[in-house]
Amino acid sequence: MNTQHQIGTEDPHRVLVLGAGFAGMAAAIQLAARVKGREDVRVTLVNPQERFTERLRLHMTATGQPTAEMSIPELLEGTGARFQRGWVTAVDADARTVRIDDDRVLHYDTLVYAVGSVADTAAVPGVEDSAYTLNSVRDAELLADRLARLGRGTVVVAGSGLTGVESAAEIAERHPGLDVVLVGRQEPGAAMNPKPRAYLRSALERLGVRVRSGVEVLKVLPDAVELAGGESIAADVVLWTSGTRVSQLAAAAGLAVDGRGRILTGTALRSVSHPDVYAVGDAAAVRQGYGVMHGTCQGGMPTGVHAAVSIVRALKGKQPKPFRFGYYHTPVSLGRDDGVVQFTHPDDSPRRMYLTGRTAARYKEAVTAAPWPTYGRMKKMPASGAFWPRGGRFTRVRETL
Ligand SMILES: Cc1cc2nc3c(=O)[nH]c(=O)nc-3n(C[C@H](O)[C@H](O)[C@H](O)COP(=O)(O)OP(=O)(O)OC[C@H]3O[C@@H](n4cnc5c(N)ncnc54)[C@H](O)[C@@H]3O)c2cc1C
Repeated sequence: MNTQHQIGTEDPHRVLVLGAGFAGMAAAIQLAARVKGREDVRVTLVNPQERFTERLRLHMTATGQPTAEMSIPELLEGTGARFQRGWVTAVDADARTVRIDDDRVLHYDTLVYAVGSVADTAAVPGVEDSAYTLNSVRDAELLADRLARLGRGTVVVAGSGLTGVESAAEIAERHPGLDVVLVGRQEPGAAMNPKPRAYLRSALERLGVRVRSGVEVLKVLPDAVELAGGESIAADVVLWTSGTRVSQLAAAAGLAVDGRGRILTGTALRSVSHPDVYAVGDAAAVRQGYGVMHGTCQGGMPTGVHAAVSIVRALKGKQPKPFRFGYYHTPVSLGRDDGVVQFTHPDDSPRRMYLTGRTAARYKEAVTAAPWPTYGRMKKMPASGAFWPRGGRFTRVRETL
């Protein structure tokens, strides 16, 4: 393993961060801030677009609401980290190289794998051809365009998880002439306590969203969704939000991955098979005392920060510390003026406390806007990025790496 850099040698230690989402940005900024001014470490961030994709606001983009355009090179300004625009097509974990758009090859000494996730469009036939997604700004803009032209008709939002709930509410609020149907296996807000769950349900009803839970979508057609049991729902537009899929880059490179392709990490967020690779955010399978973390921004940013801190420790020849994270909330927007926030135990089970209405909407907006001041503070004061709930007894694990 080549993590300990020889200070004074000519070649800098090259850290390559793949993916500039919430986790990758956190890793790149945190690391660059910690090694600022050093000639012996070089940080490079790779992402297909220069514009930062604010996934937390894609349901707003999909309903034609303007959101801030943030440029990744501008976010990195002053840190010393470099930006390379490009789509990674392959990782060679033995040669320690990354191929971008099939012609450029970048070398690394340490890799931070942060390529995120998307909705699983391969799970059900017809989704790829006939459904819209929120998998990128472009996808959300295509949906916004279609909804704006639709006037009247039925929009089926497939997937009753929180992205489906937020999207259905947003579409119903922005397009009151449309009939919005939310379909999925689980009841909306299934992981919440009964009172916030009931509030969420009544807010969807108030917005005119018809909820069909306990159903399985078997097929998406250009004008309908087919459900198990033979029923079909006519649809002018289908938005697919169900499931998550991760890039197969890591699996193809021979890194140890879980059944979904997420990199299996040890306690310090290093790949269990390739310790010079750190995995963060949705693309990593991160085990805590309560189980494997599920993809969120609240957990993704801390993984990015922790990977950066670990890399700096490894460069000094020190052992990285174990990563620990406990969940603290599930904030859900229900249009622009309403919402529910379920506060949680570190293992993501619901606490008694919750917020509803405008207070919850303001809370959710504050959470959504929080990454930018966090990144800004980290540039000047890297340690400020390292505050998050560690989860106490919920997050203790025995394994060490
Ligand atoms: C509508 C919506 C609302 C959400 N609301 C919340 C919320 O309220 N709270 C919360 O905690 N989470 C929320 N989430 C989930 C949250 O957005 C994700 O968990 C989070 O974005 C994961 O961060 P990440 O950095 O791992 O990945 P991402 O944010 O997905 O970023 C991955 C980056 O990697 C890039 N990339 C992918 N493949 C490649 C490649 N081959 N080469 C180069 N770059 C690549 C992508 O372009 C992207 O920029 C929401 C998601 C959606 C869709």
